[in-house]
Amino acid sequence: MSIANEHLLEIRELVKDHLAHQDERKLSAEREEALKQQICDNLRRENAVLIAHYYTQDAVQDLAEETGGIVSDSLEMARFGHDHPAQTLVVAGVKFMGETAKILTPEKRVLMPTLEATCSLDIGCPIDEFAEFCDQHPDRTVVVYANTSAAVKARSDWVVTSSIAKDVVAHLHAQGKKVLFAPDRHLGHYIQSVTGADVLVWDGACIVHEEFKADGLRHVMEEHPDAAVLVHPESPAAVIELADRVGSTSQIIQAAKEMPNRKFIVATDQGIFHTMQKQVPDKELIIAPTAGHGATCYSCANCPWMAMNELESLARVFERDDNEVFVDPELGKRAMLPLQRMLDFKKTL
Ligand code: SF4
Repeated sequence: MSIANEHLLEIRELVKDHLAHQDERKLSAEREEALKQQICDNLRRENAVLIAHYYTQDAVQDLAEETGGIVSDSLEMARFGHDHPAQTLVVAGVKFMGETAKILTPEKRVLMPTLEATCSLDIGCPIDEFAEFCDQHPDRTVVVYANTSAAVKARSDWVVTSSIAKDVVAHLHAQGKKVLFAPDRHLGHYIQSVTGADVLVWDGACIVHEEFKADGLRHVMEEHPDAAVLVHPESPAAVIELADRVGSTSQIIQAAKEMPNRKFIVATDQGIFHTMQKQVPDKELIIAPTAGHGATCYSCANCPWMAMNELESLARVFERDDNEVFVDPELGKRAMLPLQRMLDFKKTL
């Protein structure tokens, strides 16, 4: 068993615990309204902007939009924070997103509802083990996914998001380069299959996406033969094979807007449905199944760390002293190089 898999077993226990207590955290309508008002007032008073990921809860996404912030994917979140005039960024997402915002904009204050919101990909790729792995393969160009710590980014040659990973690896392959890709094994194998590049893949996984099941998906496709299937590339290969479109969160939303189908079966975290449904109000969105015959659903297409961005913690975001994101300035500068390489490459596409 790999080190990454050992981490995943621990993570599954945390996820089960989180889901078991989900109902206890539900708010009354009055309490929700009061918290939303408090958050709006706080943002205004602190000259801060709220930047939320597509996987956060509906109320957080609405607040970000209503207060002049953004709901988006990780890269767009960081870019928006960089360009926005606010001096404080409140990032509702997971820790690597706050770190990426800080790396891109070190002069701003970056706060998060909780720094405990992390990601199974980030946890499953500790810097010491990753650096050793890279050292063992000095002939390979190191490409890492955005879902990694600042230290792992700093050890890489390129940082990529799921929307650009394929293009970057195809570009490196055309130059005759061999690639070491981390940390998501499903994304790595997908990129390898579509580019034909020589890709050595780190053995990590997203606890949410790896739960999607091909057998269950086939069954839902039979029930809805007119639906197009949209799949995030962190999903297993057997699920990706059934997709009409494979893409990042933003690309999945774009596909639903562009494609003529009236129905879509979607394999990604179900938090995306809120913003997606607003963009295609007359189309039907169906979540792809995470529990096939005899299988156990651990995450139920619901990232437990994204769910930590609760209104209660968002309302206290300016009161606490343990929720500011710091990145060592030297480390941040080194992490910025592979990030900038991706941003520059994106302009050439
Ligand atoms: S959905 Fe997966 S990749 Fe995204 S933050 Fe959660 S564990 Fe990480």
